[in-house]
Amino acid sequence: MLTEKLKPFPCNGCGKCCANVHLSEITLPLSRGDGICRHLDTATRRCKIYDNRPEICQVERQYRENYAEQFSWDEFIAINLEICENLPDRIAANSLDLASGISDQLLKDEEINAR
Ligand code: SF4
Ligand code: SF4
Repeated sequence: MLTEKLKPFPCNGCGKCCANVHLSEITLPLSRGDGICRHLDTATRRCKIYDNRPEICQVERQYRENYAEQFSWDEFIAINLEICENLPDRIAANSLDLASGISDQLLKDEEINAR
């Protein structure tokens, strides 16, 4: 296994990967039921169990154990960053859904109060 030190994966902390765990059978068990990982703090977009996160979430470990013979670290980073970019931002979408749901309820309450 590759043991040399690698530069850090340039993660921007967007949390999109953690909000799309339904897209892989390996990460699906982490879903809280809507494709968002149950360990994700959606307010901060941070993993609540980062130091103890599953092996599948450890990008450098995955590279060393499964991909180092196929790709250089730079190639692996580039492939993953492209995936990152193309993931939908379901945290923002969920916030909008929530806000929209609250607005709908407020509108309904207002309609009821106006009667
Ligand atoms: S989608 Fe990519 S950039 Fe965003 S948190 Fe996950 S690994 Fe980092
Ligand atoms: S365990 Fe943490 S790093 Fe892994 S998908 Fe869930 S929130 Fe993301």
